[in-house]
Amino acid sequence: MRLDKYLANSGFGSRSEVKELVRKGRVRINGSPVKDAGADVKDADSVEVDNKPTKGMAELGKPHWYMLNKPAGIVSANTDERDRTVIDLFEKEGNRKLFTVGRLDKDTEGLLLVSDDGELGHYLLSPSRHVEKTYLAKVKGTLAPDAVERTARGIAFKDFTSKPAKMEIKGTGQDGLSEVLITLTEGKYHEVKRIVAAVGGEVVYLKRLSFGPLMLDEGLKPGEYRALTDNETELLKLAVEKERNNV
Ligand code: URA
Repeated sequence: MRLDKYLANSGFGSRSEVKELVRKGRVRINGSPVKDAGADVKDADSVEVDNKPTKGMAELGKPHWYMLNKPAGIVSANTDERDRTVIDLFEKEGNRKLFTVGRLDKDTEGLLLVSDDGELGHYLLSPSRHVEKTYLAKVKGTLAPDAVERTARGIAFKDFTSKPAKMEIKGTGQDGLSEVLITLTEGKYHEVKRIVAAVGGEVVYLKRLSFGPLMLDEGLKPGEYRALTDNETELLKLAVEKERNNV
């Protein structure tokens, strides 16, 4: 496997960040400094970053978890006949089957988890899971004075009633748009946009900032991704465990 791919898959940052690590001479293979991000890493090689050993190739055979900063304009499906999908942003590797853990609208940016971990991934995908997700919305129009309370009570739509959600109005940006944080525990179709519309506004920009215990890494530009760190995967598993015990 190429060294830059190995480092990115091991959680050392996006492809461009790990290339920088290699360029700065912070990476060694079997004790020798390497300056070529395309160097080949073999099963038995030991790779060190800043003199600390990395996981090794065997560990990389385990399920993969990635945090993507989804760009606007790309659909978060696994395959699509017409549009580019978020899975197309990832490099093909062997025959692993990456899938998106949940969906964001085509025009929404921000944190999207992508994995090939069937067990945990599909558990998180189940509609009965109540993992909190926080969104930043830029909103046109004037929100009703009781927007926060109505959002907290749950809003009755024709097809469903939203679960109680948290709305925090942050203020007005230089662009004249209100900035609003909304935290949901479910993921109904266009839910943030529909809640905001129900209380008098129109979402003109939407970005997901967090998924359960995980925060979007602001170092990732839209379209960039990185592997979750061991700590982040552990946090995700703990959140699932906690939720399982509450049910
Ligand atoms: N709510 C929306 O309206 N859109 C998203 O992409 C996610 C939540």
